[in-house]
Amino acid sequence: MTVSPMLRRPAPQPLTTVPESSVHGAPVARHGELAAATRDASYLRSPNTRADTHLHVAVFTRKYAVGSGMAGIGAACDPMRILLDEGMFFGAHELSKSHCRRAGCRVLFAEADRQRRDFADMRSYYSLEDRHGISLGLAMRVRHHGRPGTVIDTGCRYLIVRLDDERRPHRCHVTSGMEYELDGQWVKARPVSRPSSAPVAVG
Ligand SMILES: [Zn+2]
Repeated sequence: MTVSPMLRRPAPQPLTTVPESSVHGAPVARHGELAAATRDASYLRSPNTRADTHLHVAVFTRKYAVGSGMAGIGAACDPMRILLDEGMFFGAHELSKSHCRRAGCRVLFAEADRQRRDFADMRSYYSLEDRHGISLGLAMRVRHHGRPGTVIDTGCRYLIVRLDDERRPHRCHVTSGMEYELDGQWVKARPVSRPSSAPVAVG
């Protein structure tokens, strides 16, 4: 079985994370989805203006190789050499014609599109936003049967969660045994009850 690009990386971390306390290579989550930005060309002696309009998927870097080694936000395709302009982030689904096509970015742009569709399905099906004020997304802190973890990916209508004490990811139902962190509180998700619209198996 092939391991998805998201599972090979550290858990996504929110854009508000201080880079010095981030994990190298962790994707940046903004509004619960992968983020993208252009290169920060201000350090370069002769900026390549054409290439610098490309959007790269944003990841935290602790190993930016210029100077003595800096922490910041870099490109998924080359986090040791490409720092991103933190002044303007985009969702990774936006401006697809400008997407960087190098391997590290390309695979994550594709993942972002898939995750976006999955989250849209889950949000509309489970209505957690209306019922609990919870907006499902990447990097959310959750508890699965009481064990804390982070949402690292989606699998159709399931959340892929990495628990804090276990490397192997878990495929979690959105409401069954799940609690979500909301403003420092744990909120238990109630199951959806919609008896009239539930699909009926015919056989
Ligand atoms: Zn790139």
